[in-house]
Amino acid sequence: MARRVGVLALQGAFREHMAALTRLGVTACEVRQLKDMDGIDAMIIPGGESTTIGKLLNEGGILAPLRARIETGMPVYGSCAGLILLCREIEHSDQPRIGALNATVRRNAFGRQVDSFETDLDMPVLGPTPIPAVFIRAPVITRVGDDVTILAKVNGLAVAVRQGNILATSFHPELTPDTRIHEFFLTFPA
Ligand code: GLN
Repeated sequence: MARRVGVLALQGAFREHMAALTRLGVTACEVRQLKDMDGIDAMIIPGGESTTIGKLLNEGGILAPLRARIETGMPVYGSCAGLILLCREIEHSDQPRIGALNATVRRNAFGRQVDSFETDLDMPVLGPTPIPAVFIRAPVITRVGDDVTILAKVNGLAVAVRQGNILATSFHPELTPDTRIHEFFLTFPA
């Protein structure tokens, strides 16, 4: 179980992840520079604007060391833009990314008409009660590798996946009082 969780705090909804971790009694640290990753044993990449976060990760020299930590087993959870940054392939984009998750993502996949919505999502790994899921200009995963498990779908498309130490959701659990996704993530061996 992770003891000190870093939350990437360059842009986006990082405060809400900090609050969710604090509610669970976990030590949460904002990561803004490479040295902030010292001593953390898991990391959350929040929602926001994936092109901005990717650019700041790159310019701050955090992108490659973060990728290396993930590839050597550090648990990481990405929500929304965080999911996009974790994916190896991003449809029609060469934006900077971490790329550790063997999957292809389509950004803004729900289109303008349903730009944002909330739904109760079946996610059996969390138990029989559906999870409230907030989608904001959300991506979907359009391809997964053999090593990736799909944990939840909307309209037949993957919106929550796991690949070993990597967890990713298209939606924002940190914007709801339900902490089961964070609790599930915290069970990943650090
Ligand atoms: N559409 C945003 C992107 O492509 C993600 C939206 C979000 O994180 N809520 O980066």
